[in-house]
Amino acid sequence: MIDSELLMMAKEFGTPLYVYNTESIQTQFQKLKQGLKKNTRFFYACKALSNINILKYINKLGAGLDCVSINEVHLGIKAGFEPQNILFTPNCIDLAEIEAAMAFGVHINIDNISILEQFGNKYAGSYPIFIRINPHIFAGGNYKISTGHIDSKFGISIHQMRHIERIIKSTGIRVEGLHMHTGSEIKDVEVFVQGLEIMFELASQFPDLKYLDMGSGFKVPYSDEEIATDVALLGKKVSKAIETFEKEQNKSFELWFEPGKYLVSESGSFLVKANVIKQTTATVFVGVNSGFNHLIRPMFYDAYHKIENLSNPKGNQRIYTVVGNICETDTFAWDRKINEVRENDILVFRNAGAYGFEMSSNFNSRLKPAEVMWHEGKPHLIRKRDVFEDLLRNQVEVL
Ligand SMILES: *Cc1c(COP(=O)(O)O)cnc(C)c1O
Repeated sequence: MIDSELLMMAKEFGTPLYVYNTESIQTQFQKLKQGLKKNTRFFYACKALSNINILKYINKLGAGLDCVSINEVHLGIKAGFEPQNILFTPNCIDLAEIEAAMAFGVHINIDNISILEQFGNKYAGSYPIFIRINPHIFAGGNYKISTGHIDSKFGISIHQMRHIERIIKSTGIRVEGLHMHTGSEIKDVEVFVQGLEIMFELASQFPDLKYLDMGSGFKVPYSDEEIATDVALLGKKVSKAIETFEKEQNKSFELWFEPGKYLVSESGSFLVKANVIKQTTATVFVGVNSGFNHLIRPMFYDAYHKIENLSNPKGNQRIYTVVGNICETDTFAWDRKINEVRENDILVFRNAGAYGFEMSSNFNSRLKPAEVMWHEGKPHLIRKRDVFEDLLRNQVEVL
């Protein structure tokens, strides 16, 4: 998919518009598969991008699915994933939601002592489960996306192993998997190896253990200075560690990963229109027809997205601050060099496939954008743009 095709889609479907290129998802999946060969499976963390067509495509590629809500599980089943290829990794939900997922027959990952106890008392060993461990490794690009640190709400602390053991012994729970997910955007592959070593230490306490789930944290480059997680290096280190461990234990394990961003980030382009060029005393603003209601990562995570002018790719570069049209400070980028932007030009945000549309809202009573899938050389509308009636759909008028 080239820029002129993006421009064509902006014309055909209007802006703001999310476009996903399936070929990029396949490329990323191949990189993972080639890098991490030995006894490894991938479960796409669909909270990154959950359009049903993307789910169907990823199912065809042969990945499983990692879900964090019962509705994601339901979507996964609807998209054709086999229940045994779905892992449900929720946090802070009640037993009823876990039971709803059990009815679908998916793998269940329990992330706190209270639910573990309730589950054990009711189901004992009749439905094997995963346990989510918090290894207390601080990792990830940003405190908000780091989940393994000491103050994190996620998982059961490795310092509570004795408590877990007691519950397992007294209830007969069977643990078939251990899980950890220490954060997002981990540059240093040693963090994974460190996590794996922690799992090895715990493994002997779980006789039914088959799966070691390392979560995700695979990084993709958002700017030219950044680099992706070296999956080939990771693969080498991980397979060496696990081979040694399997020999010691005289038992083999399946290694699971849950890439979200790594699979879909680069596939996505977010297209907007420059509404106004606003020159103030200090800055030249480009005000676009979007805001953090459509792409919140820059404001929420201080994330960087490359922004380019598709309509004037040969224009002189100038310095702009790109802002949205929301009544809030919604700055997408400060002091960016962009080819001269004129009103009505189409700009593209690169790497917008993950946590883009998925985190969008109707703030300011603005409408959510449309989504298009670029598949085998053709654009397909996969979500219609919101219309005014969508804003009122679930409101009950009582006055
Ligand atoms: C969000 C999440 C992922 C995916 O993280 P990425 O950084 O998008 O790869 C994987 N596993 C769990 C449990 C998650 O919550």
